[in-house]
Order: sequence, then structure tokens, then C-alpha cells
Amino acid sequence: MKVKNKQEMIENYKKLHQMTEQVGEALMNNQFELYYQPIVQSNGEISNFEALLRWNHPKEGVMSPALFLPYLEETGMMIPIGEWVVTQLVEQLALWNKRYKKINISFNLSMPELLSGEVIKTLVRNCDAHAVRPEQITVELTESMKSPDATTLKRLVNEIKDYGFRIAIDDFGTGYASLEKILTIQPHYLKLDRLFVEQLSTSTQVHYILEAIVKLAHQLQMEVIVEGIETAEQKKYIERLKVRYMQGYFYGKPQPAEKIEGKWSRVLRCC
Ligand code: C2E
Ligand code: MG
Ligand code: MG
Ligand code: MG
Repeated sequence: MKVKNKQEMIENYKKLHQMTEQVGEALMNNQFELYYQPIVQSNGEISNFEALLRWNHPKEGVMSPALFLPYLEETGMMIPIGEWVVTQLVEQLALWNKRYKKINISFNLSMPELLSGEVIKTLVRNCDAHAVRPEQITVELTESMKSPDATTLKRLVNEIKDYGFRIAIDDFGTGYASLEKILTIQPHYLKLDRLFVEQLSTSTQVHYILEAIVKLAHQLQMEVIVEGIETAEQKKYIERLKVRYMQGYFYGKPQPAEKIEGKWSRVLRCC
């Protein structure tokens, strides 16, 4: 979190302190919830859901992680939250495995979570306890300021791969996700930031960039997931690029598990 002057530093410190305290209480009072958003294949099949954290705040209502995670990354609180997330999603996956065809779940792992190692240990423990196959879970590595050196990053990522989990680089093309990261991480999936899709209708340059990235990913044997598809035109364009996976409000917004089941159970039951 960037701070400009002393006043801002004090405000930021206060906010950080407040957040840490509130998040601890929220964990105890079950105010966190996982929402799920479908990731749809180009053939229309749904094989994957991304788990996205929500905080049902007693005063603020449903809060997006963008509003509180940046504070937590600076404190130790990110780790218990991450452990809660993976515990929850493995339980959900175990339940869905009993009810439906095998689907996969992706979740987001920030750099502090990756560095600590605790969240992945908890994930492995829970997979064992619920007989969930690691291949059904994709770890989306999200950008952060605290990215370690390439050797450390490679070691941590390889540990996750060795357990059998899949790896995705999230928000590729913006921020800290660079071409060098592809070489270090060697992910199974490359998730393109929704910024590209947003600019499709206004910039022809974006078309060239998208085409080039998709081609590069395919040459490197990685699957591409395009995020942020909101319209039929965007879907059509992305499909032409032979992208396999798509995600966005056009297909479905993130929703609580019961709503997801209500909407997709027929699709999930078949095959
Ligand atoms: P992300 O992993 O890149 O997730 C995609 C974000 O884009 C989600 O925001 C999702 O609700 C939103 N989105 C999906 N489709 C569309 C679309 O068509 N249009 C628009 N405008 N937005 C769309 P959300 O849920 O607010 O999450 C924000 C970020 O917070 C995530 O970005 C991820 O980096 C982080 N995050 C979410 N849950 C977790 C978590 O459990 N742990 C960690 N460490 N980070 C998380
Ligand atoms: Mg993600
Ligand atoms: Mg993303
Ligand atoms: Mg993001």
C-alpha cells in the first residue's frame, strides 16, 4: 500500500490495525463466504469454478476482497484467511464430487500466502481428509509487491505442482505478471487480465496483443483463460482466437454455492 505523507501514514496504520481486528472477529463470527464463478469451455461445457472471497460485513454489506485484502497482505491475517478459504473450498468440492460430475475449483493465492507455506499445507491436509484429488484444484497466483526472487518462487511453485495441484498465473499482462514469470512458474494456465477484453472495442492494437499472447501460450503448451467477458461480441471475438476457457459476467457472476447449484446443477449432473 503506497502512502504519501505522515498524515496518510497514520491513517493507514489506523486502518490496518482496525482491519486486522475486524477480520479476526469476522473469522470467528462466520462472516466470510466463498462465492463461485463459472469458467466455461469454448464447447459450452462447465468444468471449473473460481472461488472468490466475500466478507458479509454487518455494516457494509457484502464486501469484495479488493477492499480489504490489500491491508491484510501487510499483516499476518492473510494466512488464517487463506487457510479458511482452502478448508472451505475442499469441503465444497468433496460435496460436489458426491453430487455431480468431477469439476475443478480454482482459488487465489497471494504472495504472502505462498511464502508462508501454511495455506498449501492446510490445503494438502484437507484434500487428504476429504479424499479430494489435487488435480481438481488450481492455484491462481496473484500479483503482489512481495514477489520473491526467481529461485525461491520456482521452488515454492514446484512444491505445489509436486502435490499435483495445477498452477495459473492470474491477471497476466498487467502489473507484476511478466514474461519472466512464465519461465519461472511454467504454469498450466495463463489467465489474461480483463483489461484486454475491456479494450477490444476501442483498440485494434489490443487485438494484436491478444492474438500474440494466445499464440505464445499455446506454443508453450499452456491453456489460456480469458477473464472479464461481458458481451456476446467479446465472446465471439475471443472464441475466434481458439481460446479454450472463458470467464465473465456474460456466463455468470460470482454467487454463493447454493445459488450456483440452483443455476448449474442440471449441467453439472450430466456427462
Ligand atoms: P481475480 O482473481 O482476478 O478475480 C476476478 C475478479 O473479477 C473478481 O473480483 C470477479 O468478481 C471479477 N469479475 C469476473 N468477471 C467479471 C466481468 O465480466 N466483469 C467485471 N467487471 N469483473 C468481473 P472479486 O471477486 O472482487 O475479486 C478481486 C480480486 O481479489 C481477485 O481478482 C483476486 O485477486 C482477489 N481474491 C479474491 N478472492 C481471494 C481469496 O480467497 N484469496 C486471495 N488471496 N485473493 C482473493
Ligand atoms: Mg483469480
Ligand atoms: Mg484475474
Ligand atoms: Mg485481479
